[in-house]
Amino acid sequence: MATTMPSSIEARPTDVATLPVLSHWIDGHPVEVDPAATGPVFDPASGEEIGRVPRGGKAEVDRAVASAKAAFPAWRDLPLIARSQIMFAYRELVWRHREEMAKLITREHGKTFPDALAEVTRGLETVEFACGLPVHLAGLNTPNVATDVDAFTLRGPLGVTVGITPFNFPAMVPMWIYPIALACGNTFILKPSSHTPGATQLQAELWTEAGLPDGVLNVVYGGREAVTALVEHPDVAAIQFVGSTAVGRQVRETGTRLGKRVGAYTSAKNAMIVLPDADMELTADAAIASGYGSAGERCMAQTLVIAVGDAGDRLRPLLLERIGRLKIGPGMESGVDMGPIYSAEHRESIIGWIGTGVGEGAELVVDGRTFRHPDHPDGFFLGVSLFDHVTPEMTIFQEEIFGPVLGMVRTATYGEAIALVNGHKYANGTAIFTTDGGAARRFKLEVEVPMIGVNVPIPVPAGYLSFGGAKESALGDLAMRGEDGIRFFTQQKMVTERWPEPGRRSTLSLVFPGNR
Ligand code: NAD
Repeated sequence: MATTMPSSIEARPTDVATLPVLSHWIDGHPVEVDPAATGPVFDPASGEEIGRVPRGGKAEVDRAVASAKAAFPAWRDLPLIARSQIMFAYRELVWRHREEMAKLITREHGKTFPDALAEVTRGLETVEFACGLPVHLAGLNTPNVATDVDAFTLRGPLGVTVGITPFNFPAMVPMWIYPIALACGNTFILKPSSHTPGATQLQAELWTEAGLPDGVLNVVYGGREAVTALVEHPDVAAIQFVGSTAVGRQVRETGTRLGKRVGAYTSAKNAMIVLPDADMELTADAAIASGYGSAGERCMAQTLVIAVGDAGDRLRPLLLERIGRLKIGPGMESGVDMGPIYSAEHRESIIGWIGTGVGEGAELVVDGRTFRHPDHPDGFFLGVSLFDHVTPEMTIFQEEIFGPVLGMVRTATYGEAIALVNGHKYANGTAIFTTDGGAARRFKLEVEVPMIGVNVPIPVPAGYLSFGGAKESALGDLAMRGEDGIRFFTQQKMVTERWPEPGRRSTLSLVFPGNR
């Protein structure tokens, strides 16, 4: 018999024999899970197994979709203000439980507690946007387009919708998807990453506490089998996927072939251009924060610094001085700047990438591979690494590492720097560091990357704006959240309506109707 995993971190046992098991959340309730059909959840700071997460498959997906389908008509028809009030209640509950949620994130992901707290509050921005749903769902109304005829548009929901999310933002990324899907009147199934599932359980509980009707939001844990079952299910209308390009491409190709709406927001390799006139102190702070924050496990991290002219020579000692001050340790310890890598396998993969960079001839100025935390020898810790003289043909320039590895590239001119940014297969976020307004303006016009920072290293747009990249970083036509999110999760209807003046007589005509 499985015990339900408590969402309160303090309540978790540490004895492996009594490890708690998370449950799927279907129809407003936790679902009992066979402990044999579960996988491990780790605390990356200690390396210990701290819980079990179910490996859901077709049976659980079928159950969740049936629940969401049954809940859809009543949720669609609920007056907008009632939907909005549930959203407000959820916002308040998450705010009240933000520290508990952040602790769960730190415990399973490894990022520092202040970073996890910031993730929760940035996610809440989109919930707050969704609270204004009566305004966002307004259509256009054009009276008198022809005699006795009015035209208007309305936005209706799609039905059962799905979010498939990555390990690195277990609260923020789901909160970028489900508030919009639900606000638009859809029901929803969340398939989170199995590496960081605890915060999801808490989110599901808080939705129910906020008054969300049973079945409107369901959670199914699992990997490839659960994802395949969701993508292929005939009653699923739309999917937003956030994760790697390899998996996102499969999800998008299968989903669109089956007639579903699919947006996949995927891998990244972001570059910041540093011009010689930049404020180098500010730029060094930005590069370190962006490259090593959350151990580099952010899709908007700028992990390439493209230094123009002598900017690289001036920046390098400032980077080294800051690296020397970084404190690496468990995310709950105060004063820690960077926590462990989220999994032992990923740590090994990053170490492999550093070896590749050395083999390709980049200069490894700081080698994080040898770092061990003295008090946590089994934790998945890694030091930060800095490469200089990275060149565009190197795989460490081309591929996402998703770890604390910063690479500096040198170019003679701004033109060469922008050609490198625009020639990259990934296009999620980019930034320029300069004190020259004209150069910054030129950058905004010339750069082919949708999310742009000017002296801002992690240019994640505010929660009421859309978020999405291009090229291999976003597969689909619309971004997440904001105006694009509303478009994605609704079907626009165009209504043409005739209400004849009393006594006006109808005349028969086979001519194509003109608007006169
Ligand atoms: P991932 O692709 O491994 O997993 C994403 C989701 O897909 C998870 O729910 C996972 O369980 C599922 N999944 C994994 N393998 C699968 C398979 N073979 N078949 C079907 N489903 C599978 O990604 P991740 O490691 O969790 O997250 C890191 C990646 O996500 C990075 O590439 C990062 O850049 C990207 N990311 C992108 C954005 C963005 O907005 N563009 C945001 C966050 C993370």
